[in-house]
Amino acid sequence: MLIADCHSHCEHSHDSKTPARVMLDCAIAKGAGYLAITDHCDKDCQLIEGFEWVRQIDLDAHFSSLEKLKDEYKGKIEVGVGLEMGYYAPADGLYKDITLRYNTDVLINSVHLVGSKDCYERSYFDSGRYEAYGDYLRTVADSVQAPYDYDIIGHIGYVARKSPYEDRALKYTEYPDIIDGILKAIIDKGKSLEVNGRGTDTPFIPEHGIVRRYRELGGELITFGSDAHNPDWLLVNYAQVVEALKAMGFKYIFRYLNHRPIGERLV
Ligand SMILES: [Zn+2]
Ligand SMILES: [Zn+2]
Repeated sequence: MLIADCHSHCEHSHDSKTPARVMLDCAIAKGAGYLAITDHCDKDCQLIEGFEWVRQIDLDAHFSSLEKLKDEYKGKIEVGVGLEMGYYAPADGLYKDITLRYNTDVLINSVHLVGSKDCYERSYFDSGRYEAYGDYLRTVADSVQAPYDYDIIGHIGYVARKSPYEDRALKYTEYPDIIDGILKAIIDKGKSLEVNGRGTDTPFIPEHGIVRRYRELGGELITFGSDAHNPDWLLVNYAQVVEALKAMGFKYIFRYLNHRPIGERLV
């Protein structure tokens, strides 16, 4: 079974120092047959006051260097050339331009900022858990409808990573209606749900109940992403994710080349 990690970062992201080559060599050493390098493209931060410190990715350099590595590593590992786009409705046009201008394999749409607030800041939770998590989910629901072509909805449940509560994980049972809407929209639009190996109180996000519900609703397109920013985190919790997916009734796990989902039978 080809092992695919569809979400990782290298030094082209503002929050990673690892060269792409190091990520690829390590992915090979860990047995991966595919690694998507999906560096942060944070047009949200470019447009929102207070986030100017976030270094913007040099897209030309990012894509040209990854294309070279893709050729160089042919036969050793498949390289998915990609981005992780930080969803923010006023940035829709900027993202649309990028998706049209560059040849890519895989694009992840992720919510990091809700309105103009960062879920990584303690003050984000001033409204209380129910509102803060709910606002995050409503933004995820908007992100699914983004007018640019993306492939995967990233890390649903991210809001919990820095939340101050004892029981942090965002669970299906807390917001069944909003989550059903999100999952049905992902299915209707032919997008993939990402299972992200960097969980919060759980081995992965979205938490088990959300992923299981996706399957119940007929969801089939699903990817694994470690979200590694350094080699140590590549494929984190991969085996647990695969076992959980099989138990939930998923038959395939996917990777993307040229925006085409390629299924690998779960065995
Ligand atoms: Zn992210
Ligand atoms: Zn990421």
